[in-house]
Amino acid sequence: MAERANIQNASQQTFDRFYRFHGGLKLAGHRELTVTVPIAPADIPPLLVLPLLQHIGEPAEALVKPGDSVRTGQMIARPVGMVSAPVHASGSGTVVAVEPHPVPHPSALPADCIVIETDGRDQWLEAAGGLPDYRSAEPQVLLERIREAGIVGLGGAGFPTRVKLASGKRAIDTLIINGAECEPYITCDQRLMRERATEIIEGVRILQYIVQPEACTIAVEDSMPAAETALRDALEMLQETGISVTRIPTIYPTGGERQLIKVLTGREVPSQGLPADIGIICQNVGTAAAVYRAVCMGTPLLSRIVTVTGSGILSPRNLEVRIGTPLSHLISACGGYTQDVERLLIGGPMMGYAVNSDAVPVIKTTNCILAVTREEMPAPPPALPCIRCGRCTEVCPADLLPQQLYWYAHSDNYDAAQDYDLFDCIECGCCAYVCPSHIPLVQHYRHAKTEIWAQEKQRRKSDLARQRHEARLERLERIKQERAEKMASKKQALSQDAGGPDPRQAAIQAALERVKRKKEQAGVSPGNTDNLTPEQRQQIAAADQRRAAQQTGDGQAE
Ligand code: SF4
Ligand code: SF4
Repeated sequence: MAERANIQNASQQTFDRFYRFHGGLKLAGHRELTVTVPIAPADIPPLLVLPLLQHIGEPAEALVKPGDSVRTGQMIARPVGMVSAPVHASGSGTVVAVEPHPVPHPSALPADCIVIETDGRDQWLEAAGGLPDYRSAEPQVLLERIREAGIVGLGGAGFPTRVKLASGKRAIDTLIINGAECEPYITCDQRLMRERATEIIEGVRILQYIVQPEACTIAVEDSMPAAETALRDALEMLQETGISVTRIPTIYPTGGERQLIKVLTGREVPSQGLPADIGIICQNVGTAAAVYRAVCMGTPLLSRIVTVTGSGILSPRNLEVRIGTPLSHLISACGGYTQDVERLLIGGPMMGYAVNSDAVPVIKTTNCILAVTREEMPAPPPALPCIRCGRCTEVCPADLLPQQLYWYAHSDNYDAAQDYDLFDCIECGCCAYVCPSHIPLVQHYRHAKTEIWAQEKQRRKSDLARQRHEARLERLERIKQERAEKMASKKQALSQDAGGPDPRQAAIQAALERVKRKKEQAGVSPGNTDNLTPEQRQQIAAADQRRAAQQTGDGQAE
């Protein structure tokens, strides 16, 4: 099954050959628009819009309210739970709102955001201080720094980096740094590798120190010779021999985590599993650079490189952008739209999604803003019925059955869709790209996933409510039982008391015994009272009366 190929890198045995994943496409790159344009910093906009959820997991919790002054680098929302990430102010100014706002998401639904009116001064918070000598610290300390810095996977998935680095149930043997920017048009990672190779390698060294892998490589596509050269030069300059650079074929979607792992190692990540389950961790080159800045310079994740491109943009560029900057601000920085602009997408043409408004902000996972003309990307014709041609199956890099998935997702049969591994679909769009019936397959899969997540959330909510109700019933039953047990033990104590000697009876009996003894001592036999003194007669009469009274009382009681 594995296909041997040329030896690309001789520095490490592990990556001296590559493997082929199923399916995939050869696509036109369209990278010439921006690949030669150096990264430029974008201005800080008048308003920064920072969503509380910019990552996979739970949204962060706002720490600020309208009216609060904030400084650049200040944590303004803290992580909630294990899989979450904090949000930092990417510019100084005043918080003007904490409210729902349009955000970049395929659902187009608004989400909670912190809106900062910037003051134009970019006043930084006193930095926590870098840790250039990070080897003197425990890996746990560095993991905490990475979490505190709000770093998430910058390749597009947005999984919190700290969680990923600590997720292995087994030892990590391989660290892969993903420089394979496989979608057309996008060049932000390529420019980063060309211009900031040293930062990337310093970040990789930190990651190596944390996970202690046996092998580590940076994967670049064979269409990125300048990036490859820059990385090799930096490795040489730093005299780093524990990291290699591997050149891989440009086949879409090689940059997908599972596909890259397959290409480099021949290993398959189990269905719905994590790379860490097979001893591998994969990080994007941008994430590695962010780790370097967080650990060695104490800088949280405040900005990222974004490719602003497409024939609908007057001057396409790669910009270093503060997180929270509205797309409209960046499009202005690139000269604005062309007159024939047709659609605006976030991400590339394959995995990206259209947005209705350029007021949405750049978030941590935004790698590309693509404005296309009608000529460049014509609107898809109306969808026709599936003709079961099987082309979608041939190209699926996840080795799924896209037409079956479509059938079940379309008919809302979500259980069956999951049986066909819906959640292994990486939404690469290869199936929709080749479908002769122009069925928007990925949209159906996204919708099905969203529905399943919503149902799962609802189910968890109902389960929680049911568990609470059952716990209450159990508590009430326990209280009832405890009360019943108390009553029973009281009754038992009373009945035991009733079976013992009656103190009154015992006193009478003792008095009679005393009188009897006295009579005997005085020679008085029972029934003979002749020789008794008047006092003794009175005592006997009183005792007889008490006994009679007692017997009468007992008889009545019965
Ligand atoms: S490519 Fe389209 S028409 Fe062909 S089987 Fe797949 S979904 Fe059906
Ligand atoms: S979008 Fe999903 S089903 Fe379609 S080709 Fe990609 S991985 Fe396969």
